[in-house]
Amino acid sequence: MRPLLIVGGGLIGLATAQVLVERGERVRVLEAREGVGLETSFANGGLLTPSMPEPWNGPGVYHHLAASLFRSSSPMQLRLRALPSLLSWGITFLRNSTPGRFYSATDDNYWLAVYSLDKTLALTERLQLDYDLLDAGTLSVFQNAEQMAERQAISDHLACHGMTSVTVDRDEIVVLEPLLKGVADKLVGGIWFPDDASGDAHLFCRELAREIVAGGGEIDTGMQVTDLISRNGKMAGVDTNRGRIDASRVVVAAGVYSPHLLRGVGHALPVKPAKGYSVTIDAEGLGELPGVAIQDDESHAVISRFGNRIRVVGTAEFAGFDTSVCKARIDHLFGVLESLLPDLASRADRATAEAWAGLRPMSNDGRPFIGAGNIEGLYINAGHGALGWTMAMGSAHLLADQILDRPTEIDGSPFSATRTI
Ligand SMILES: Cc1cc2nc3c(=O)[nH]c(=O)nc-3n(C[C@H](O)[C@H](O)[C@H](O)COP(=O)(O)OP(=O)(O)OC[C@H]3O[C@@H](n4cnc5c(N)ncnc54)[C@H](O)[C@@H]3O)c2cc1C
Repeated sequence: MRPLLIVGGGLIGLATAQVLVERGERVRVLEAREGVGLETSFANGGLLTPSMPEPWNGPGVYHHLAASLFRSSSPMQLRLRALPSLLSWGITFLRNSTPGRFYSATDDNYWLAVYSLDKTLALTERLQLDYDLLDAGTLSVFQNAEQMAERQAISDHLACHGMTSVTVDRDEIVVLEPLLKGVADKLVGGIWFPDDASGDAHLFCRELAREIVAGGGEIDTGMQVTDLISRNGKMAGVDTNRGRIDASRVVVAAGVYSPHLLRGVGHALPVKPAKGYSVTIDAEGLGELPGVAIQDDESHAVISRFGNRIRVVGTAEFAGFDTSVCKARIDHLFGVLESLLPDLASRADRATAEAWAGLRPMSNDGRPFIGAGNIEGLYINAGHGALGWTMAMGSAHLLADQILDRPTEIDGSPFSATRTI
């Protein structure tokens, strides 16, 4: 049998390939970039957070987005120039922001995220993967009591499913993260999620790539898929910048670019890009570093640690397919570091810090698309939004079970790639 093709060598495509290779399938990953994990999976926040499974289109999102058209400091930004391309997607995005739909997507994502983190940690242990894993939970800190109450309400809801969260006061925050001592008096409190973790997603991609090749899979980089080819309602292969490849089974895991490819075979996938930024600082020799990933609810930003590197991540812009780096956004991230870890910020070398922007593949009902496409032999694993690292290994197992016609370990129906939204 010809190899199964996977379009996209980011977190999702590589995770899918690794699981299939391990189950004895012949797999070939086709990746447009010169290496794996160089697109959205490159310099993300690194958080593995079943504790934050809620979609962005929660109740009240309409007001946040409308306000952002006129306020440049808003954490979620909607650019006027992006409005026409977002029209029908955006209406469904807003339609899904009722409390009932929000909590339904939150629950579905939670189960997938928990399943995924289990798979990630088990794989890490079994293959001794090295990607600067920090298995110490995440700590959310709040400067505003109302925002803390909102997060607490979601945590209380997830507690019914067995999620552990610990509400902490200022003193307890400092015990969990002593580096926050100098700023604790401006915090109203925090929530610690002991079962979360963090790690470098790009390093994980490289570790997966090594395992795929060691297991007999192939990875072609610099290979751009230009078209999906179908014949008589079945997948027949793909056209690439290096010619045609015949295949009866193709997985599209091309992140924000998945809808372009799928359109060619008549499968409409409602996924749009939401831009985010990160800045990574070499913190070697800068003294003590945080021992836990910190989420700052005030600025909607995250400070993660990967070995001797510190990364500050944030912002969400609906601005089309633009990955240019805006200096003001990076300055904002340095501002977050200054406000929470001022000593570290004062010692950080801004000149050598690596600024980056990436595009989250956002679905319009807040869940990813995992499963068979509209024609035989076509499979989709895309649209994981702000949770693609958290959900990668679980999504891969869910799809592999479907491809191999085996019972799935969690309910895959909420993530169906042909669902009506
Ligand atoms: C700022 C930011 C912070 C984030 N933080 C977190 C976090 O803390 N935790 C978390 O869980 N998630 C986080 N995410 C989300 C996560 O990074 C994404 O959901 C995830 O990377 C998506 O992976 P992917 O494989 O679908 O897409 P990608 O990583 O973009 O991979 C798709 C691949 O397909 C390739 N490709 C596209 N088109 C073609 C083609 N035609 N032919 C061949 N190859 C093609 C691309 O080159 C790319 O390598 C964050 C995202 C951003 C932007």
